[in-house]
Parts: sequence; C-alpha cells; structure tokens
Amino acid sequence: MTAPREPRIVVIGAGVAGITTAYVLQDAGFTDFTVLEKGSDVGGVWYWNHYPGLTCDVPSQIYQFGFAPKPDWSKIWSTGPEIQRYHRDVAEDLGLMDRIRLDTEVTSAVYDDDAGTWTVTLADGEHLVADFVVCATGVLQNPAIPDIAGLESFAGPVVHTARWDDELATAGKRIAVIGTGSTGVQVVSALQPQAQSLVHFTRTPQWILWAPMWLPQLPFAGAALKAFPSAHHALYRGLLWGSGILADIVRNDTWRRRAVQAYARLSLRRQVPDGALREALTPDYQPLCKRQVVSGSYYRAIRAANADLVTDGIAEVTEDAIITSDGTRHEVDVIVLATGFRAHDYMRPMEVVGRDGLTIDEAWEGGPRAYRMTAIPGFPNLFTVLGPNSPTGSISLQHTAERTARYLVSWFDAFRRGEADRIEVTESATAAFNEQVVAALEPTVWNTGGCNSWYFNESGVVDLWPFDRRELDAMLSRPDPSHFHVRRG
Ligand SMILES: Cc1cc2nc3c(=O)[nH]c(=O)nc-3n(C[C@H](O)[C@H](O)[C@H](O)COP(=O)(O)OP(=O)(O)OC[C@H]3O[C@@H](n4cnc5c(N)ncnc54)[C@H](O)[C@@H]3O)c2cc1C
Repeated sequence: MTAPREPRIVVIGAGVAGITTAYVLQDAGFTDFTVLEKGSDVGGVWYWNHYPGLTCDVPSQIYQFGFAPKPDWSKIWSTGPEIQRYHRDVAEDLGLMDRIRLDTEVTSAVYDDDAGTWTVTLADGEHLVADFVVCATGVLQNPAIPDIAGLESFAGPVVHTARWDDELATAGKRIAVIGTGSTGVQVVSALQPQAQSLVHFTRTPQWILWAPMWLPQLPFAGAALKAFPSAHHALYRGLLWGSGILADIVRNDTWRRRAVQAYARLSLRRQVPDGALREALTPDYQPLCKRQVVSGSYYRAIRAANADLVTDGIAEVTEDAIITSDGTRHEVDVIVLATGFRAHDYMRPMEVVGRDGLTIDEAWEGGPRAYRMTAIPGFPNLFTVLGPNSPTGSISLQHTAERTARYLVSWFDAFRRGEADRIEVTESATAAFNEQVVAALEPTVWNTGGCNSWYFNESGVVDLWPFDRRELDAMLSRPDPSHFHVRRG
C-alpha cells in the first residue's frame, strides 16, 4: 500500500471554470493547489468586459454557481458589473482568494517526460512545478481586431468592447459600432440614446429574440429566497431542468424549435415596421443558427433618428471617417469594435508542450479537440475545464464546470492514493468521442441553419456540445479507465 501524497495542482484562469475548480478542489480536501489569473480580479469575461450595456442573456437565478446561490439579484438578467461582483464575493466568501494569484500570467506549461511533472512558467520568470495542470482559460479571451485598411490612421479613439476604456466619452459624439453579435447589439442599445449619431456597421444581420432585459427581480423575491434556502435550491434545480429546452431546440427540428424561430421573426416584424430597414435587418439563415442574440432594446435603438444601419462592407478607414464599399463617407469621432474574439484560441498564446515535445499548436492544427471537453492525447496530467465542445448556450456552464471538476477529482484522488502517476487519455477514445460529436452535431441548427458562425472551428466542425444534460452528466460521472493510459511511477 502506497502512502497518500498530496498532488500539486495548478489551475490557470479564475473565471467561472477556475473558480468552480478551486471550490471543488477545496471541497474535496485538496490542500496544494493554486489558481493563476492574469487579470487583476476574478470573474474572467466578467472582469475583462465592462462595455456599456453588458448584460447576461441567461437569467441570473441560473447563471450562477450551484454551490453559491445568490437570492438577491437586482434584475432577472443581471448586468456585467453585478455579475463580476458576484464572482468576487463567491471567491471571498468561500475562502478561495488565498488560493488565487491575480496579475499572474502563465506564459508556458511544459511537461517533463522523465519526472512526470509540469513546469509552469509565469510572465515574471517564476517557475512552478505541478503534478497536474488544469486549464480554465476560457474561449472568449483574445479580442479579434479586424483587418481594415487604414484603421490605425483614425485620429479618434478606437476601442474594442473587451478592453473598454471607462474614461471614454461617448455622449454627444458621432459613434461607429462595427460588429453585430450580442455585444454589438448591447453596445448600440446603450450608446445610441446619448450619441449625436450612431452608425452600426453590420456584415451579417442577427436574429434577435425580444425580451424585457431591464426587468428587476421582484422586490420580495430575494428576501423570500434567502429565508427559504430549500425553495431557492428548488428554483435553481427547476431552472436547470427547464433550461433543457435549449438543448432540445438546437438539437431537434421539432415544433418547439420552429416556435422559437417564429418568435424571432415576429420580434423583427413587430418592432421594425419600416420595410427597407426590416429587410436590411433580416438574416438569410435560420434563427438559432448563430449564438442567439436576446435584446429588448436594439430594434428601438436602430430605428431612432440619430441611428443608421450600414450593411455595405467597409473599404477603408481614414483619419476621420469610415468609407464603405459603395464609396459613402461616414464621418465619426469614435470607433467601437464589437468584433468578438479569436474563438478556439483556448489556452493560447500560452505555450503548452506535452509528452515528447508535442505542442498544443501541433496537436490542434485542425482545431481544438479534446475527450469529453477535458482531456487531450499527448498531454498527460493536463486537463481543461470548459474546454473544447463546452455547451456555450445550451447547458448551464456553471453546472458543466462543476461536473468536469468533480470528474477530475477522481483522477486526483487516484494520484493521492498512489494508484496513478501519469494519466493520459488515449487517442482512440478521443477519436471515438469526436466521431460521436460530429454525428450528433449533424441535425443541430448550428449545422443545418445555413449560417457561418464562430462556432465552426478550423476544420469546419461546430465546437459545441451536441448532447443533452443527462448525457453530459453520464459522460462526466466517473472516468472510464479503459479510455486512459494510466501509469504508476
Ligand atoms: C462579453 C461576453 C458576454 C458573455 N455573455 C454571456 C451570457 O450572457 N451568457 C452565457 O451563458 N455566456 C456568456 N458569455 C460566455 C462566457 O464566456 C461564459 O459564460 C463563461 O463566463 C466562461 O467562463 P470561463 O471560466 O470558461 O472563461 P473566462 O471567463 O474567459 O475565464 C478565463 C480566465 O482565464 C484567464 N487566463 C487565460 N489565459 C491565462 C494565462 N495564460 N495565464 C493566466 N490567466 C489566464 C483569463 O484572464 C480569464 O480570466 C459571455 C462572454 C463574453 C466575452
């Protein structure tokens, strides 16, 4: 019998995935773990993004950790700052801040074949040695800056929504917003009322489901849920169960999907009476194909007298204007890039080198690929939480992160008991899982809806979770040893 030993675990990232992992490790009694976060606070995307109008499109009573329920959200769909504060409060209240090193960027993680350990190098040159590395580094991390001729020559401010300048004055200005995902829609809605003029440059219109995003949570609800934790828990479980409808409508072409799609078309028809504007706002693909946008204010904003929608491509930017391909010159003072992220970058630009010198860039030449969102062949003792194929937009990410972290605990426990030192998923199990994913993705609206979206990876495969929550829970219930090479010593 081998004496128990404590695994040294490094978690990279302190967003939803990293906080969850830290909580689960603490809950499972692990004592030698550290979370490294390059931002100056926890919260991940909710720390990095603070543009005007940022609102979660998932009701807060479900966009929260199952282990840290918050009864008293101020709104049904909370704003970015409140969600960021929640993450900070959770990390503090659960005693996790002592484990988290902020302002600490990991530049590389390299596996030592002989020792069976990982060397994690920080931006300041410090090295940490770990038995396990957990990458909770997020998917929407690295802002995508469009390659527009002359953009650098623009004399006024150019700001990406993910790196918003809180000092930026936008009231009374002529504002250009480029990009039309959820962020573009939110920032247009927020900036338009105070702007002198706002031009929204959109290449592809989005379907937008109307919802009253401004609704407060009922005043007595917070107090009631606080007084009755079991009722709060029941509400959370109920919402989790109810959100199964999301997985159902994207996976199955039934009347339920068609009803939501009809609602998207109705939302546009009812709110945009002007035929020409409505035509310009009508996508040529099915609702739900892209990350679905939800807004109660965008159509009103874009109809306003000071707003303009431009669908012609941008030819170039000059010192004081954006010139579109039809030759029109749009003079503006501020350019807002709501152009999203280099999705699928996952842990990059960090250098990750696994067994036999295999780099993550080589392993993922054809796009990110993992076994059940969490293990990568060639990278022993390294796992991802909310990694490739995570259910962005169909299943609670908090639930998924917790399930994954608890799945990893099974391996960490095996290490602790001395039953496993090197754990590496097999290529065959990974290939089989990915074949299963591709087959299951076939009928989804992401695949059949006729759009091009950031969901598609370099190989043209949709990087999402095509199964329902029950299947997710089953796949992450406990590791199947036949899917892993497990070595001692
Ligand atoms: C603007 C915006 C709005 C969103 N709105 C919604 C929404 O309404 N509903 C919804 O369901 N989802 C939304 N999302 C998706 C969101 O990504 C997930 O909900 C979730 O927050 C992801 O959590 P995460 O921990 O996986 O990643 P992240 O939140 O991205 O956290 C990853 C963390 O890892 C850190 N990190 C990365 N690399 C390193 C490194 N090398 N060294 C140290 N630290 C590192 C990053 O700094 C970051 O803090 C939104 C995303 C964005 C960008």
